[in-house]
Amino acid sequence: MHHWKPPPPLSLSLRSCRFVLSFTPAPAMSASSSSEVAPTGPADAIYRDRILSSKLYFDVPPSKVPVIYSSSYDIAFFGIEKLHPFDSSKWGRICQFLIKEGFLDKKQTVEPLEASNDDLLVVHSESYLSSLKSSLNVAIIIEVPPVSLLPNCLVQNKVLYPFRKQVGGSILAAKLAKERGWAINIGGGFHHCSAEKGGGFCAYADISLCIQFAFVLLNISRVMIIDLDAHQGNGHEIDFSNDRRVYILDMYNAGIYPFDFEAKRYIDQKVELASGTKTKEYLDKLDEALEVY
Ligand SMILES: [Zn+2]
Repeated sequence: MHHWKPPPPLSLSLRSCRFVLSFTPAPAMSASSSSEVAPTGPADAIYRDRILSSKLYFDVPPSKVPVIYSSSYDIAFFGIEKLHPFDSSKWGRICQFLIKEGFLDKKQTVEPLEASNDDLLVVHSESYLSSLKSSLNVAIIIEVPPVSLLPNCLVQNKVLYPFRKQVGGSILAAKLAKERGWAINIGGGFHHCSAEKGGGFCAYADISLCIQFAFVLLNISRVMIIDLDAHQGNGHEIDFSNDRRVYILDMYNAGIYPFDFEAKRYIDQKVELASGTKTKEYLDKLDEALEVY
């Protein structure tokens, strides 16, 4: 359908926000050149060690398809989740739909591990992660005010644990995409969260984490983010503002949240749409955008 083809095609989708990441493997000669532009973060030994000792990349048997999902992705407790327009049980429903239509056999999906504190520290600061120990802060990030009244242990179990499982899925998806040519994480795609700031229902920066792990473990030299969520993806834009290894194509409605004009400066190629854009026009503009690249 699209004219743009990565050389060779490795792509992974983080379904929550309709993302595609395309990786360009590093040339064989330049395994050490991954520091090409490496700004901060995993270039430092401590971050590398965290990535190298992570358990999130594990061997997936050939009997599995590269579709990652866990029933613990879904967030539901006391009906509170219904207070946000975002459907927090959609991951399970997507999976059910794929099974019902015969595209997927539940037994063939891959169950990811939960991202640990050390995994999250590859991108996030201690202070940001500590801020999630306040139910009020989590309530602000997920935009569900009553969550501020809950004990934090409940918030951890019912909200942040599902998110951390999804982060584990996004990170693993890069490894699977390299092995199989493609992979889909049915969750993740938290594009409003950056290293230091959550928002818009996004508490962890899984896209930034996925890419940093891939740079260190998969001998990847360049990544393209194709962000097709209705919103501008301000989180990954801030995180990769100084990193020329990451090319960002963002197609979004400019008239809605998040109106992040600083992050907008870091989009390599933006396609701004108005509310009410019809499917044909949308797909034509997407084709055109991919063609330019
Ligand atoms: Zn969004």
